[in-house]
Order: sequence, then C-alpha cells, then structure tokens
Amino acid sequence: MLIKHTPDTFEKLHILGGMASDDILSRPPPSGRTQVPYTSARRNPVPGVYKAAMPNGKFISLMRVMFTDFCKMDCFYCPNSHWVPRKRYAFKVDELANAFMEMHRRHTVNGLFLSSGIAGSGSKTTERLLKVVDTIRNKHGFKGYIHMKVMPGTEYQFVEAAYRLGTRLSVNIETPTPEMMRRLSSMKDMQRDILDPMGWVANLMRRNQGNGKGATVGQATQMVVGAANESDWDIFKRMEQLYGEWNFKRVYYAPFQPVRYTPLAEHPATPMVREHRLYQVDWLKRVYKFTNDEMRLAYDDNGFLPHDDDPKQAIAVHNLDAYPLDVNLATSEQLLRVPGVGPTSATRILKNRGAHSIDNWRDLQAMGVVRKRAWPFLRFPGHRPPRAKQLKLDLFSEGAKQARKKEIASLTGQAQAKHSPASCGQATQAMSCAGCPLYGAPGHPGSANAA
Ligand code: SF4
Repeated sequence: MLIKHTPDTFEKLHILGGMASDDILSRPPPSGRTQVPYTSARRNPVPGVYKAAMPNGKFISLMRVMFTDFCKMDCFYCPNSHWVPRKRYAFKVDELANAFMEMHRRHTVNGLFLSSGIAGSGSKTTERLLKVVDTIRNKHGFKGYIHMKVMPGTEYQFVEAAYRLGTRLSVNIETPTPEMMRRLSSMKDMQRDILDPMGWVANLMRRNQGNGKGATVGQATQMVVGAANESDWDIFKRMEQLYGEWNFKRVYYAPFQPVRYTPLAEHPATPMVREHRLYQVDWLKRVYKFTNDEMRLAYDDNGFLPHDDDPKQAIAVHNLDAYPLDVNLATSEQLLRVPGVGPTSATRILKNRGAHSIDNWRDLQAMGVVRKRAWPFLRFPGHRPPRAKQLKLDLFSEGAKQARKKEIASLTGQAQAKHSPASCGQATQAMSCAGCPLYGAPGHPGSANAA
C-alpha cells in the first residue's frame, strides 16, 4: 500500500532551511567570521538559523530558507537544476510568513534570508517571494533585516517592488561574462536575465541618493568559481565593475564542487585556496583601494593568482624599491600597502605618531601590526630590515615556502572538515556533499546553490 506523506511546515523548514544554509551569499567569506552557525541542536532545533554580522557590527539571528528547491533551469553545476532527480519541496506564502513570524515572536530569529529555485518564470518566483515579504512587512509589521533573492529574468516592476520591501537584494551573477554563462547554462541570458535586473537596482539606489533619501537597500551577488574555466583576472574585472559602477556591497565567491547527475559531474572541484585568494584580492580592492595596475602584479601571465603566494605580499615584492618604509613618515596609503598592516593598524599608527615617534615592535604590535609579515617592509629607529636583494632571498627562502605550504594545507583542511560526510549534519550540508555517497539518503538531501 502506498502511503502519501505530506511534509508539515517544520519538515519543510528542516529541508529547505538546511539547503539555503549552503548559499554562499548567506555564508561568511573564509577570511572573516561574520556568521556563526548554532552548533547545538538543543540550543536551536531549527536548521538554517545563523548568527550574522550586520554592517554596524551587531549580530542578528537570521532565518535562511528557500521558498522552493524546485528549479526548471539547467545550470550545469547546480544541485537544484532539473538534471538532479530528487523530491522537491515548496512552502505556501502564508505558511512561510507565519513560520518566520512565529520564530521572530519567540526571539529565535530577527532577520530573514529568502531564496528560491525558479518555478515557473523568474518574475513569477520573485512575485511569490514578494508576497512572503509583503505579508511579513505589511500584515505582521516586521521592520527588520530581509535579504531577498531576485530571480534571474525578473521584470522591472517586480525588481522595483523588491527594492521597496527588502533590506538587501541579490541576483546571482554566477560567472564573469555572457560567453562564460553560455558554458554553464543553455537557458540563462546573462544580459537580459542578470545584468539588466542588477542595473535596475543600481539605478533605483542612485535615484534614491539623488533624492537625498540615501540608498537604504544594498546589493550583493555571488560567483561560482572554476565552473566555466574563467581566470581569476576575468573575475577581478567583473568584481571591479560591480563595486565601482554599481556600488555593490559584496561579491561572494563559491568554489565549484561537482554535483552528481549534472553535466559538470566530472569537472574537477575548485580548491578552497583559490576562493581564499579571491577574497584577499576582493579585500585589497574594496577596502585598501589598490589600483588596477597594482592588482595586476598579483596575477601570473595567464591571469591566475598563485595559490602559494599572498597577493598583498606579491604586490609588495614587485615594488621592493619602495621599501623599507619609514613608519614615522609614511602616508596612510603607503602603510596600507605593507603586508601585515591593515586599515585599523594604519589609523592607529598615524594617530600615535602624532604624540610620539614609533621606535619598537612592541608598540606596533599593540597597534595591530603583524610583525612576521611586516618586518621586512618597515623601518624605524632601531630596526633596519635587509636590503631589497637580501629581502627577496628571505621571502622566497625554504622556510618562507614551508610557511606558505602550511597556510594552504590549513585551508584545505578546513575545506575537508566543512565538506566531509562525517560533518554532514542538517545544519552543515555543503554543495560538495551532493557528490558524496550519503547524498539523497534520509537526512542528507544535498544542498542548494539557489538562483
Ligand atoms: S543556479 Fe539558480 S537558476 Fe540555476 S538551476 Fe540552480 S537554482 Fe536554478
């Protein structure tokens, strides 16, 4: 006898919440701990609830959920694509809105990350997400943080409505160029489906700024790294445009992991260290304001970032003639180019040296300078770093190479820990688990890289 089981709201939350937790947009970059998963099922029995850091530094508990994991699209890398045969689930509008509000009333969550696969068309799916958000905002009066995905191919009227209701919007760009997109999907047109909606959001933000109201909504996106054989320089050029022209808050990078049944099932996985290097470059461009000419120095002739070399140090080594830098005379811009010196330590150096000259490592370390990285590049009374030639020898010595290998090994170790079947609990399913033997087994439904 066939018994038909209809999942209740809790079961759907369990499945679709767990899947959304793998969306890279809702995860922290490896270099920063901006989100902390609840580790104890007793403390928080609902999967997909994360602590997320807001731009003001405060933490909120975020409910991350997909409206549905059904998707009619054929993205060659995605476990939600139509290639993958498995059971799919979907919420009803009121069901999801009520579940969120119930959790909000119980102080389990105070923000929402809402994603989905594409069921019907991009506009139709976005319209459904809008109904959920509209119910939460206007029926229940929720005024907090809502990060909402805008589906590829969404028409202008729905993008505008999302702009009015969301706190942060994202359309996933997935890959740097339209030509590369054609390698990843036969159904997505990058200009029409992705770049146009992104441009509309950017224009709405500009218009609001022009009104003097300020751009209250931020825009983010993600790329799947390594699926389209793109180079790191290709990614950089797109990233630069998104931050520069369209004022994006963040671009996220997800290393490609092969998914069983998809056309890229045999494509090699992207090493986590590549993702790490991309976040480092992103940081140098976005926060440290390195110029493009400087950034180019970090890439090899084929446009890739060497895995065994820190990009900031690689750029500094190319400019050895500018070092050592007198820490008591250097400008903020010069200090920010020194490996081991960040925006906070540079500001502290400038502030402190107004009161007294800096003449020892202890003070610099107290200001946040990382001595083992900065020592060859800084000069002050009592510290004389080696000359340029010797410095180059030191930086590429056997010891330094070993240290870099250790760094890569630790990154790889973290990746394995993150993706191992042993760690594949409901709250830690990862994209690569779609290729593991437990994929599809009860309690291991795979993961999502939602639209
Ligand atoms: S990437 Fe998005 S649009 Fe493509 S198959 Fe996955 S969920 Fe669907």
